[in-house]
Parts: sequence; structure tokens; C-alpha cells
Amino acid sequence: MTQRKPRRGYFTSAVNCRCPRCREGKLFVNGVSISMKKNLQMNTRCKVCNQPTELEVGFYYGTSYVSYALTVFLSVVSLVLWGLTIGISVNDNSVFYWLGVNAFLLILLQPWLMRISRSLWISWFVKYDPDWQEHQPEDVSERLNKDQANNW
Ligand SMILES: [Zn+2]
Repeated sequence: MTQRKPRRGYFTSAVNCRCPRCREGKLFVNGVSISMKKNLQMNTRCKVCNQPTELEVGFYYGTSYVSYALTVFLSVVSLVLWGLTIGISVNDNSVFYWLGVNAFLLILLQPWLMRISRSLWISWFVKYDPDWQEHQPEDVSERLNKDQANNW
């Protein structure tokens, strides 16, 4: 039997919001959108390997921490870039200009950040399965509650 190699690596798969189990199917129904509802609407199951995208009630609560960490990381990067190009001094208002520009950038990136956070979050709980075609994903139905679906 030949060794099957994934088409995407872990990082590419997570950034492209692909199912972590097969790295093929899309996690989200729509493309990145300003509409919050459209932006975060997920496929209930991966269309390629049948992996459920919600593993338990309130599964995506933890993504706020991921989103927070990403935001802090991006702010540090933008501060360093600002310092190296425009320069930051205590003698003028340059740090406040950075704050404004940084806030604007983060708001602009928000729809994308929310999706990436979910994609990263599920990738830490569902491992890549090179033989996903041969068996079914773990059954999580007893951890779900229909009335509580999407309730976060
Ligand atoms: Zn899949």
C-alpha cells in the first residue's frame, strides 16, 4: 500500500478553514463576509469526510481566547513594523496614531480572525486522519443537544 500524503499541510489547512480530519472539505458555508451570520455559518458536517464541525454544546466558546491571542500577536507585529518604519517617540503623538491605525486594521480583519480562530480551535480537537476514507469520524451525537446548537 502506498503512503497517502495530505494535499495540504496543517498550517495551510487551518488558515484556509478546511476540515482538520481530511484537510479537504470546507468548514464554512460561505466565503468571508461582513454579515456576522453569513460569515460564521458552518457546515454541520464536513462534506468530504462527514466529520461533525460542532463536537459538543458550546464547543466554540473557547475561540474567544484564540481570537484574543491572534489579536495581541497582530498588534505586536504592527507595533514593531510601525516602530521600524514610521518610528515611535515619547515626544509626539506617534503612538496614538499607531493605536488608531491598529484598531482600524483589527476591526477590518475581524471577520477573518473569527473564522481562523474556529478553524484553529477545531484543529486542536480533531486530528488529521490519513485513512479518513476508510472509516467514519467519531460519533459525537450524545454530546450534542439540538436545542442548544449554535447557542454561543
Ligand atoms: Zn473532512
